[in-house]
Amino acid sequence: MVKRNVNPPPTAQRNQGSERRQLARERENKEAATQTPYCVRRALYLIWHDRALEITMTHSGQCHCGAIRYELSGDPKDVSLCHCSDCRRCAGAPVVAWAGFAEDQLTLTKGAPKIRNSSGAAMRSFCADCGTGLFYRNADILPNIVEVQLATLDDPEALPPTVHIQTAEQIGWMKTAHELPRIDRFPE
Ligand SMILES: [Zn+2]
Ligand SMILES: [Zn+2]
Repeated sequence: MVKRNVNPPPTAQRNQGSERRQLARERENKEAATQTPYCVRRALYLIWHDRALEITMTHSGQCHCGAIRYELSGDPKDVSLCHCSDCRRCAGAPVVAWAGFAEDQLTLTKGAPKIRNSSGAAMRSFCADCGTGLFYRNADILPNIVEVQLATLDDPEALPPTVHIQTAEQIGWMKTAHELPRIDRFPE
């Protein structure tokens, strides 16, 4: 037969129990005292939320006539100013600004560009109606990457270039172009 212990716990054990409760109360009070006020938590949430939106922010752009529109999600892998002769000839401009994205970051939202092989494996997309250059792909050098002509963004200020590339092919006078006088509009 099992002998049941009907004796009350020794005083030491009872005291241990109330000590634990006391410690728990103290912990709760301490937590309440150090808890961040709601307004601060709300402000922190809003900052985090804005940052999260920024991270997944989309950019949009189009060709000059608007027949082709596109969207880009997230950040580019690189943003550059290219001085190569292939870009120069295709754009009819001394330099072309590019932002490189993964293929799945680009979505065409209107129209379809015409694609032309400009040199080697380089495939350039442009609007067949107005001629604006839009995208560059090169499966050999840049697999799964699409370079987007920065100046076609609705907000061309959004992604500032961080590097000049292909300067070996740069037009000589471009080296000092930033030193030329600047006039707000046309010369008088
Ligand atoms: Zn167009
Ligand atoms: Zn180039």
